[in-house]
Amino acid sequence: MTYKEIASPSRTREILQKHGFTFKKSLGQNFLTEPNILRNIADVVDLKNSNVIEIGPGIGALTEHLAKNAAEVLAFEIDSRLIPVLQDTLSPYENVTVVNQDVLKANLTEVVATTFGQPRPLKVVANLPYYITSPILMHLIESSLEIQDLVIMMQKEVADRISAVPSTKAYGSLSIAIQYFYEARVAFIVPKTVFTPQPNVESAILHLHKREKPLVDVLDDEAFFKLTRAGFVLRRKTLWNNLLHVYGKTESIKAWLTEALEKSEIDPKRRGETLSIEEFAKLSNTMVELRGKHEFLSEA
Ligand code: SAM
Repeated sequence: MTYKEIASPSRTREILQKHGFTFKKSLGQNFLTEPNILRNIADVVDLKNSNVIEIGPGIGALTEHLAKNAAEVLAFEIDSRLIPVLQDTLSPYENVTVVNQDVLKANLTEVVATTFGQPRPLKVVANLPYYITSPILMHLIESSLEIQDLVIMMQKEVADRISAVPSTKAYGSLSIAIQYFYEARVAFIVPKTVFTPQPNVESAILHLHKREKPLVDVLDDEAFFKLTRAGFVLRRKTLWNNLLHVYGKTESIKAWLTEALEKSEIDPKRRGETLSIEEFAKLSNTMVELRGKHEFLSEA
């Protein structure tokens, strides 16, 4: 018997009816019902001979395409009502494992090691629940997994923020946190009309490709990320005001920051959003080097 693709509007309707499924808005459940879009998502990177992690398979619309293209697929689904649905819809595919777990609580390294039959290049492809896009991204990136590519559907506004360049409204500490490790580009825009139910916002597919080494050389990762967050803490203020806001306003801190800015040739009157990632790295490294001179600054 041949089946229509899970994502076709009529098959989706049939599946939902058969299982009496009702959408939970609180879990970001907007299902894709346009097979062409799913094919395009599965084609952004070559999945052949790869292990793929999916987050939030829903009724399996995207999972089906991943199963057809990749060696093995591991999907995390939080909603236990969807587990029997997925057992049903994905029964033709033997290379899929569905785990009924909140991906944010999962020990990714452990699940990956015990699920995939053999190590292969690891990729993530997902239509994420929009209410927790950034926490999920950070959870994936901060895990010790070596993820080569991520192809992720998210709110267009978040995709723009992640892939933004300096001096634009969208550029911020999230752009830097991700671009430090990954090349980021918007692969394509997805109209609201291909979802059931339709979301209120525009969507985009973001492609992140792991860099061979981080974009900039940084002496202390933690200090660098603290500085990049500080640079954007109060958006309309100068870099100088933001630095004082985060590091403190004592005379010794002011002296330390002044010296670091001078040595890095960065004008304190500039706004944080005009600094390139290279300039943030230069300033952070100088601050770290000068920190040694001042014991009282060991916390900074
Ligand atoms: N992949 C399907 C598609 O493209 O049609 C569904 C995508 S829907 C936007 C997001 C899915 O993520 C839902 O199935 C939802 O239940 C699931 N989800 C929400 N929060 C989750 C979490 N913390 N961990 C795992 N899955 C989650």
